[in-house]
Amino acid sequence: MKALSILGSTGSIGQSTLNLIDLYPERLQVVGLAAGYNGQLLLEQAKKYRPLLVAVFDPKTAKKLRTHLPDLEILEGTDGVSQVATMPEAKTVVAAISGFSGLVPTCKALETGKQVALANKETLVAAGNFIQKIQALKGGSIIPVDSEHNALHQCLRGNPSKNEVKKLILTASGGPFLDRSMESFSKITKRETMKHPTWKMGPKITVDSATMMNKGLEVIEAHHLFGIEPDHIAIAVHPQSVIHSMVEFIDGSVIAQMGITDMRSALLYALSFPERWQTRLPSVDLFSLPRLEFRKPNLTKFPCIRLAYEALREGKSFPTALNAANEVAVEAFLSNKISFTKIFKISAQVLESHRSQSIDTVETVLEVDHDSRDKAWTIVRSFTA
Ligand code: NDP
Ligand code: MG
Repeated sequence: MKALSILGSTGSIGQSTLNLIDLYPERLQVVGLAAGYNGQLLLEQAKKYRPLLVAVFDPKTAKKLRTHLPDLEILEGTDGVSQVATMPEAKTVVAAISGFSGLVPTCKALETGKQVALANKETLVAAGNFIQKIQALKGGSIIPVDSEHNALHQCLRGNPSKNEVKKLILTASGGPFLDRSMESFSKITKRETMKHPTWKMGPKITVDSATMMNKGLEVIEAHHLFGIEPDHIAIAVHPQSVIHSMVEFIDGSVIAQMGITDMRSALLYALSFPERWQTRLPSVDLFSLPRLEFRKPNLTKFPCIRLAYEALREGKSFPTALNAANEVAVEAFLSNKISFTKIFKISAQVLESHRSQSIDTVETVLEVDHDSRDKAWTIVRSFTA
């Protein structure tokens, strides 16, 4: 029986994880649940799965939950969420908080030597070098849940030598605006942005998929997970999302991983690793697949991808600043403060004035994140003035 703590249990990935637990009750068990604000859903989850510990970031929600669950310890704030991440009963921690808020609890889980099934890509983008250091020192490990990196992890099984890898090829659905003319990008609405063609996800990653910043963040994520330099990480737009990513080796072989467009499939791999379990999910039906297409990404139409490569090449604190600026820009877009095309402009302007810093401690990550957010909000205000 694998005991899990789920951070972000009320979100899209969190709920998919719980669904997988329903499908594998003899193998998976919940010991800890943590979420942000959604007390109603967290209450239902706590009643159904009876964890040993629950944490909710928002103190008001925690107070309400305590009245409904008097026999359960309900913690609050980042410290409370971190306690769920480090509880001794948990073997594996599913890191599925959205955005930078996932950083501290994920680091704590790795510091206590946990196996982390990592969905929260922003943690690796903002603090990749630091996270690698903690893993090396404290013995924690990461199994990627993000479908592309989960696929790459599978393609690289049995080929651990980096020297044999020519290229990691991340596939991208292209999002809802792949075929929309660039001239009409200024008219893009929030409603159009939230309609992803192949994946159903939380709001932040859905906006990132529409700007294709998501793919840029994934390039940075892949660099940190697999130790491959940016020039050897490519993107192939593949609108059908059947191939989840590929590895090209130096001898010309390309290994691709195919799967259903359902995050439970990536979670199943991450939670069963190093074993493979009999699937209880639908399988790929080769004979009913659509025709598979591959296109080069259009960096003029989707400049966020270029920005992410630039930040990764600059290194040090540049990806941290990019992540912070993008989170602010997405939040401003979701609250109708700025238009779609401003998302890129805000991140680009924050990076232009960014001064490079080494990322050696959590404190430096938090400091760069804080300063970059301040700058980004100032730019948002200049756009709305
Ligand atoms: P959602 O927005 O659906 O869920 C986010 C979760 O994080 C919610 O449970 C939310 O709680 C919780 N949360 C937010 N802030 C805090 C906080 N401060 N402390 C504790 N919990 C918090 O996001 P997704 O599930 O879509 O994505 C989660 C992560 O996985 C992201 O980093 C995303 O990039 C990555 N990912 C997601 C994929 C997907 O298919 N959804 C695919 C690949 C990667 P509440 O709702 O209670 O406020
Ligand atoms: Mg992905």
